[in-house]
Amino acid sequence: MSAHSSENGDKSGMGQRAASPLPGGAEKKWRAGVLGATGLVGQRLVKLLSGHPWFELTEVAASERSSGKSYAEAVRWHLDGPIPASARNLVVKSLDPSLDCDFVFSALDSSVAGGAEEDFARAGYPVVSNSKNHRMDPDVPLLIPEVNAAHLDAIPTQQKNRGYNTGFIVTNPNCSTAGLVLVLKPLADAFGLEKVFAVTLQAVSGAGYPGVASMDIHANVIPFISGEEEKMESEPQKLLGKWDGARFIDAGFGLSAHCNRVPVLEGHLECISISLKKIACLKEVREALRNFEVDAELASLPSAVRHPVHVVDGDDRPQPRRDVHAGNGMAAVVGRVRECPLLDIKLTLLSHNLVRGAAGAALLNAELLAARGFLNHRVPADGEKQLPEPVTR
Ligand code: NAP
Repeated sequence: MSAHSSENGDKSGMGQRAASPLPGGAEKKWRAGVLGATGLVGQRLVKLLSGHPWFELTEVAASERSSGKSYAEAVRWHLDGPIPASARNLVVKSLDPSLDCDFVFSALDSSVAGGAEEDFARAGYPVVSNSKNHRMDPDVPLLIPEVNAAHLDAIPTQQKNRGYNTGFIVTNPNCSTAGLVLVLKPLADAFGLEKVFAVTLQAVSGAGYPGVASMDIHANVIPFISGEEEKMESEPQKLLGKWDGARFIDAGFGLSAHCNRVPVLEGHLECISISLKKIACLKEVREALRNFEVDAELASLPSAVRHPVHVVDGDDRPQPRRDVHAGNGMAAVVGRVRECPLLDIKLTLLSHNLVRGAAGAALLNAELLAARGFLNHRVPADGEKQLPEPVTR
């Protein structure tokens, strides 16, 4: 099913187009590795890479607990359907940066992601990361392609600053930031943002596996997620800000977040109040959200959806169970757009924390990097074992 034609939910995967020609005249797929492949986000990546038109999964890596085992033995599989056949027999490697692949996704626990990602970038691998460690580094793009693709211009500066050759690090935002910023972007463009007040209701899968103990979260709400409010209050400033050729300039609007963990499996709901720089009526706000459409470059990426924000009618939507798979999990769903007695408008939004907020976001970032010529096919260095020929289309 075409990503563009399946805007209203597809639990089978992300509905990548059957025939997305390789970009830039590339003749073979890029070989991808997944660091942290056994975790919740890593598993999503493994599944999304199965049958991907541009990328071929050739390596999986995780902790010492898993390395040396086959992927099927090492992983505790949490997704519907079987482990993809292409991944089952891959041997899980350690974090040594000598993997047989052209670039790596990182879905590593943050306790190890920082150093490991630098090691891989230094060894020449583009690193497409989910982890928090490098998001706010002054030379690392924090990327949502629909929002700030121009921030990729920082990559040459990063390579120069750090002495990287072909390697670099690009990150995607925190899972609750991802949905928020996708919805703020068309409003920022149309009206400007003055202040944003956000209250989140975040799913348990946002905490990895096993995450929050069932006895803590069952029939309960936990009004604290360590570090989350800080991330939500800083990352949107970078995402909606600018790269000026030497550094990132923050967007500079007021932003306050309250983050709560709720007994929902997948999908972060957020209640948002916004004050705009330019006066707008509710109809104009809804139209700005509805008309948010990606350009031709982004529309050509296999995981992109043409309209990344869906506006739903009905007083009781969006709901995690009903709406989390909108746009194959890549769209933010907005409902209840109404006047706010304190700020200007308020609304409720929902996004899939493991897809739009993690694995799908990283995949879309990698697709944009491929389309813009940032991914090379890696040639083994002298003395490195001769690698098998990459899979051709
Ligand atoms: P997770 O389920 O706990 O998985 C963590 C992964 O890291 C596993 O593959 C684990 O391997 C590996 N790992 C842990 N310690 C390691 C070590 N010392 N050396 C090598 N590998 C090690 O976590 P997750 O939810 O998938 O999250 C992964 C990353 O994405 C985190 O940085 C998280 O903050 C970020 N993120 C998560 C979400 C979300 O919604 N869950 C959203 C956005 C970003 P073993 O299986 O071998 O232990």
